[in-house]
Amino acid sequence: MRRPERRGLVSLVGAGPGDPGLITVKGLKRLAEADVVVYDRLASEALLSHVRPDAEQVFVGKQPGRHAYTQDGINNLLVDRAQQGKRVCRLKGGDPFVFGRGGEEALTCRDAGVDFEVVPGVTSAIAGPAYAGIPVTHRLIAASFAVITGHEDPQRSSSSIRWDHLAKGVDTLVFLMGIEHLEEITSKLMQNGRPASTPAALVEWGTYARQRTLVSTLGEIAERCKSEGFKPPCVTIVGEVVRLRDRLRWFDCRPLSGATILVTRARDRASELAAMLQEEGASVVQFPTIRIRAHTLADVPDFAALLTAKYDWTVFTSVNAVRCFFGLVRQIGGDARSLGQSKIAAVGPTTATAVEGAGLRVDFIPEESTSGQLAASFPEQLQGRRILVPRAKVIPGDLLDSFEAQGAIVTPIPVYETLPDEGAEATRQQIRSGGIDVITFTSSSTVRNFLAEFPAAELPSGVQIACIGPVTAQTARDAGLRVDIVAEQHNIDGLVEAVRVLRQLSRGQQASDPQEG
Ligand code: SAH
Repeated sequence: MRRPERRGLVSLVGAGPGDPGLITVKGLKRLAEADVVVYDRLASEALLSHVRPDAEQVFVGKQPGRHAYTQDGINNLLVDRAQQGKRVCRLKGGDPFVFGRGGEEALTCRDAGVDFEVVPGVTSAIAGPAYAGIPVTHRLIAASFAVITGHEDPQRSSSSIRWDHLAKGVDTLVFLMGIEHLEEITSKLMQNGRPASTPAALVEWGTYARQRTLVSTLGEIAERCKSEGFKPPCVTIVGEVVRLRDRLRWFDCRPLSGATILVTRARDRASELAAMLQEEGASVVQFPTIRIRAHTLADVPDFAALLTAKYDWTVFTSVNAVRCFFGLVRQIGGDARSLGQSKIAAVGPTTATAVEGAGLRVDFIPEESTSGQLAASFPEQLQGRRILVPRAKVIPGDLLDSFEAQGAIVTPIPVYETLPDEGAEATRQQIRSGGIDVITFTSSSTVRNFLAEFPAAELPSGVQIACIGPVTAQTARDAGLRVDIVAEQHNIDGLVEAVRVLRQLSRGQQASDPQEG
C-alpha cells in the first residue's frame, strides 16, 4: 500500500535564551523528530545533540568564516524543504516572535502555501532578569513591563519608540539588542522624566554559566557598562524591581558559579560529571574535544543482517550509541520493534533516558558502570546468551572481554566514530592563558589522554587538579602534575564534592588576600 504523500511543516521553535533546559517540551519534540533543523548562533548548540543524526542541519547565523544567509535565503530554505514534504524545525533564540523575525518567516510560509506552526519559547527579556534574581513584575513595586528594541538610534527623528510614554507610563523597562545605544537610551529616558536614580541593571549572557550582572542607576549605567566591558548579548533592565536582586539572587551564587572546569574524557563517561558540575554553577569544558560522526549504511552494510539475528540482550553504553543506532534502524525502515524480544541494558541514567526517548523500556541499569564490572553485575547468568552491543568504531576491548569472560556471545555493531575536533587548539589556548580553574581526572587513562594532547610543562601554575582516587592521583604525580585534592569518596559524587572544597578554599584565600580588598 502506498502511503499518502506527507505534507511538509515548518515549526518556528523558541530555543530559549541559552540554558538548554529552557526549551519547551513541545519544542524539544519538534527538534528531535525534524528532518531539517535550521538554527543560528544564540540557539544553544547543546540542543543540537537531540537532533536525529540523519537530519539535515543548516547553520544560518552570522559567524566569521562560515557562509552567511540573508533573511531571504533563510525564508527560501524553509519553504523549499517544506515543499519537499519535510518537517523543518526553525530553531530561534528566546521566543520566535520577540524580535526574532519569526513573524516574517511565518508570513513567507503563509504566502508560499506552506503549513507552519509556532512553538513559543522562553524569552531572554524575562529569563535574563529572572536568572539575575530580578522579577519583571512584583506586587506593589511593578504592575507593568515593556520589552523594547535597543537597536534603534533614539536620536533618529523617525524613531517609532514613544519615549515620553515609556519613560513615565511603564514600571519595568527591558531593552534587548544594541547596548551600543545605551547612552542615548538612558538620556532619552531621563529627558522624558525618569529619575537618574532609578535602579538599572545589565545581564550579559543571561542563563549561561558565564552570566554576568551589573547593577547601577539610570544615570550611571552607560558609563559603568563601558568601564566593566559588558558586551552583547545583554538585556538592560530599568525599574525599581532591580533592587530585589539583593535578596533574590540565586543563579550566580551557587557553589561553583564563576569557575571554569575542564572535564577530561576517557570514553563516554564524561557527560555525567559535566552535568553535575554544571548543576552546581560551573562552566564546563570537555577535553580532548571530539566530534561524533554517526555511521550510515555505507559504513555498516551488514546492519540489517546483524539485526535479523535474535539477541537476549542489547547493551547501550552511551547516549551516542543510542542515537546513532536508531539513526541506522530508521535508515533500514525499521523502528523500536527491530530489537524484537531482546532485553535492554543501559549504562548510566542519561543513557537510560535516551533509550526511553526512543520509545523502549530499559530492563536493567547496571549500578557499576566501569567496563570491567559491567558484565558481572547483570541480573542473570550470561553463559551462552547472545548480546548486541552498538558502540563506537574503536574502543578498548575490555567491555566485550568482560562479557565473553562470562560465556556470552557478543556481537558488536559500530554505529559511530569519534573524530578529533577542530576546537582542540582553542581549548589548549584557553588552558595556557589561565582560562581554566580546575582540571578533573576520573581515571588514569584520562590523565594519559589529557597529557597526549597537552604537555604537562605548559600547564599554568594556577590551574588546580582534582582526582577521583589515589591511583589516578599517583598516575598524575608520576607524570609531573601537582595534585591539589583527591576525592574522599572515589566516585563522581565524591569528585564533585572535592571540586566544591577546592573552590571554597580558593575563595577563602581570595577574601583574606589584602590586595583583593
Ligand atoms: N527572540 C529573542 C531575542 C532576539 S534579539 C528572545 O526572545 O530572547 C537578540 C537580543 O536578545 C540580544 O541582542 C540580547 O539583547 C537578547 N538576548 C538573547 N539572548 C540573551 C542572553 N542569553 N542574555 C542576554 N541577552 C540575550
